[in-house]
Amino acid sequence: MKILVINAGSSSLKYQLIDMTNESVIAKGLCERIAIDGSVLTHKANGKETVFNNDMPNHEVAIKMVLDALVSPECGVIKSMDEISAVGHRVVHSAEDFTESVLINDEVLAICERNSELAPLHNPANVMGIKACQSVMPNTPMVAVFDTAFHSSMPDYAYLYGIRYDHYKKYKIRKYGFHGTSHMFVSGEAAKYMGKKPEEVKVITCHLGNGSSIAAVDGGKSVDTSMGFTPLEGVPMGTRSGNIDPSVIEYLMQKEGWDIARTIKYLNKECGVLGMSENSSDFRDLMAPGKFDGLNKLAVDAFAYNVKKYVGSYAAVMNGVDCIVFTAGVGENDPYIREKVAGQLSYMGVDFDVDANKNFKRGQICEISKPDSKVKVLVIPTNEELVIARETQRLAK
Ligand code: AMP
Repeated sequence: MKILVINAGSSSLKYQLIDMTNESVIAKGLCERIAIDGSVLTHKANGKETVFNNDMPNHEVAIKMVLDALVSPECGVIKSMDEISAVGHRVVHSAEDFTESVLINDEVLAICERNSELAPLHNPANVMGIKACQSVMPNTPMVAVFDTAFHSSMPDYAYLYGIRYDHYKKYKIRKYGFHGTSHMFVSGEAAKYMGKKPEEVKVITCHLGNGSSIAAVDGGKSVDTSMGFTPLEGVPMGTRSGNIDPSVIEYLMQKEGWDIARTIKYLNKECGVLGMSENSSDFRDLMAPGKFDGLNKLAVDAFAYNVKKYVGSYAAVMNGVDCIVFTAGVGENDPYIREKVAGQLSYMGVDFDVDANKNFKRGQICEISKPDSKVKVLVIPTNEELVIARETQRLAK
């Protein structure tokens, strides 16, 4: 069974074709600048990269180009589209409508569209990707896999904000959480690594990338996470502020003469380590040799400090922890931040291995706590596409 995984953004579309017999990626690629001048499709298959510079006025044309590339005699990997058994779509927000992945029909699509209100930057693009695929592959089953679904197991006292209850009931204002496929995948891998079932372990997962979130996963279920109603809550990120006192918003609007849209754009795009460092949102730039001082270092240290606070609070939430996992771009690659977060947690049973952390091997599971540490600390490469493919296979069978 071959499954096409689609992650559609407003002007981009990432895809992977996965052969589920051995869960291998047989082709992958990225359409960029959809509906913008200079569209480009970069397709990777058979160890070769092919670039197409054709116009992509909309997502439907982009999907058609992807399918053409997949069946092309030059750079293709399948003979016909019929070899694609199902398509799995990343959909960011499911609100309270879905607690797990679902086969897409008209009703499901309408609900995803309605939930665009809650994720205006993501859901409309995800829906566009689904519609484009449906029009090009009308007979292929499609599955929606939601970023929020894994966190739907959070108890009410964890997801409720301290606001009027009627506003939660009327407008569904509550914590939802994101990066669910990643937290689910790495917490499952951590259990497997420890030779346990997910139900038997308490894991704190730190998905640290351009967007970052931390989750408390108790017995295989998310019981709390740092992102909230939107991905803006939690730790400072590449460009997002993370938690601030809400009063700052009014104060800043007055001082700068901004309206609310400008202020929200500021909090999403101009803050985080970019804002604090006055330099870059990219951790590699901040930590480049010869650059890691002054505001660059302050931004990185503030980031790590905030991650550490969540780790401590989630150990409290679960009455202990068996394993702390680092994943995503920063978590998988940056030993400095991992040491700042987990290097001094001996009070909770972590015996951190400084050398193992520095000498870790990229792209594989690495143990960075000492062998007899009560709490394991692991680096685990995430694989959100594989989660989407597995969910799609399960539902499309
Ligand atoms: P992601 O959003 O998961 O793709 O992660 C992107 C972030 O990971 C960017 O800030 C990158 O700078 C960071 N990153 C990627 N590779 C490294 C690395 N080798 N060292 C430090 N940060 C890295």
